[in-house]
Amino acid sequence: MNLDLDQVEEWLAAHPEIHDVARREVLDGKPSFEHEKTCLAAWDVTCTIDGEPHDLVVVITNQFPADMPKVYLRNPERYELLNHVNCHGDICFWDRRAGGFFATSRPRDILSSGIYAALKRLEESLKEPDPDNLVDEFEGFWRWLKGKQTVAFFAPPARESVRMTVRSTHKGSTITYAGELPSAAYAQRFKNGDPETAWYFPLDTPVLPPSSDTVSAAYVRSLFGSVKVKTSKFDVWMKNGKFRKKPSGKKSKFRKKSEKDRPRTSQTQHYTFFFSTPRPAGGHALFGVHIKGRSKENFFESDSEKPWEITPIEIEHHYREFMTERAGAEYDLTEVSVAVVGCGAVGCRVAEKLTLMGVGELVLVDSDYFTHENVFRHYLGSSSIGTKKAKALADNLASEHVGLSTVWRHMGREEWLEDHEGEAKRMDFIVDATGDFNGMREVSRQREGMGLPPILFTWVEAAGVGGFAVLDGDTKGCFNCLVRDRDQGPYMTCHYLKPDQVVAKDLTGCGSFIPFSALDAEKTAIMACEMLLDTINDPEGSPSMYRSWRGRADVAEKMGLEFNPSFEADSPLSVKDSRDFASVICPVCRGR
Ligand SMILES: [Zn+2]
Ligand SMILES: [Zn+2]
Repeated sequence: MNLDLDQVEEWLAAHPEIHDVARREVLDGKPSFEHEKTCLAAWDVTCTIDGEPHDLVVVITNQFPADMPKVYLRNPERYELLNHVNCHGDICFWDRRAGGFFATSRPRDILSSGIYAALKRLEESLKEPDPDNLVDEFEGFWRWLKGKQTVAFFAPPARESVRMTVRSTHKGSTITYAGELPSAAYAQRFKNGDPETAWYFPLDTPVLPPSSDTVSAAYVRSLFGSVKVKTSKFDVWMKNGKFRKKPSGKKSKFRKKSEKDRPRTSQTQHYTFFFSTPRPAGGHALFGVHIKGRSKENFFESDSEKPWEITPIEIEHHYREFMTERAGAEYDLTEVSVAVVGCGAVGCRVAEKLTLMGVGELVLVDSDYFTHENVFRHYLGSSSIGTKKAKALADNLASEHVGLSTVWRHMGREEWLEDHEGEAKRMDFIVDATGDFNGMREVSRQREGMGLPPILFTWVEAAGVGGFAVLDGDTKGCFNCLVRDRDQGPYMTCHYLKPDQVVAKDLTGCGSFIPFSALDAEKTAIMACEMLLDTINDPEGSPSMYRSWRGRADVAEKMGLEFNPSFEADSPLSVKDSRDFASVICPVCRGR
């Protein structure tokens, strides 16, 4: 859209709520407004609230009118802390809402409604300050402070004061983190970081963010007023003067000793402090400071701002509790343990989905090695060729997902059930994605007798004509309900292809495989995982369930395969969902 800025200026001038509209000077084609360097235009305007004038800056971003205008207080330093106004004066008035469309054909309306909303926010913040909300938005304020640095926390904040180590790496981008690393894979990434001591203090009472865009020494000292117990280790650390910058190069013992006895001279000091403040809305806000200065006194003995240089630290929450919620996981599955037996095309996707859903523990069971033939149908890639499938998958998932605990078993289902019976019984669910019908039938028969948890059997039918998931739960309905015996041998009643056809494809003369695509496997895994989620949330316990999808005919037709009547009867791409699929002649369910 070609936006006429003179036109926009006329709209602003005509806006009933603002006056004294003056376009900001343009330098190098950009308006001279430090907080919005790439915007299209910015205007100084004034509004009146309760007879008091307030100077503002209205900014039109590059996205306008597909984005709201931005509205800033021109002189935020003249105000006390205001709700929804950060230290640059940026008024946060437009919360994301569902849909998120803008009537881009009516830019004047967007400009106007943006200004109305911003002024309404400002008026509310001026008239009805809400200190609780200021604490809730603490991290939002802290993030905008001048010269801010970022540190990653890989574990949730402790309840007590603790000593931590901060490390920075300088490979490409600087990543600084504090505390323990969640896995060996992270340790590899950070191994060259220089360690520095930091202290973490949970504050007992909520504190407000600073009202300016910098952090003063007085502010930091005042925080220590909210720390109940500083921990004796911290006192020792302070007493020994460990905050002094380590002298570079090696020095002899004797020299060190004599240094201690010397009269105090001014020395460069470094402190890193992290704090958490309780949020009225729940949880904690995390933030930190790095303090540097050269002085005879330590930071706490001195009561002046000089010579202390204070860098605010924003803390990124890289730990599971935060990350799964942030990623939109609806349920806390941290306590849920699932074993995935068979880590092939379907099993690996089930394991991946369970991980992303936030399941806390995965036990992966598979006796195969990963080969080049698996690559385009698997979560693992070429770099895993030749490795144990279960181990490679477990290592991969755990190293990429903080806080996931994994166990791998390089063995088949029967061996696992025999050698690790306790582990199998301890699971909340077992997913059997082996596609081994004889074995699935057997384990479904024995499940109750062995005291195993509910088992979800899931597989893709040849040529991708369908995908299936059966949950052997507490009610009637099980894998065996779907099996019929005939003279020629058993077959699955739910399948779309007629039994006894040769469905295996043969590319190399030996080692045939069942053809179906990675997408079919993925779709089946999603269906199976949704079923598990439904079961976990079912108030009745773990009712037995059946679900299947009907796929496409093209591949099967090309292979000359024949279909059962059910394939024609079900509509293409439809999904079946049933809790009432028990067979009256099923030997397993008869007793339930
Ligand atoms: Zn806000
Ligand atoms: Zn049954």
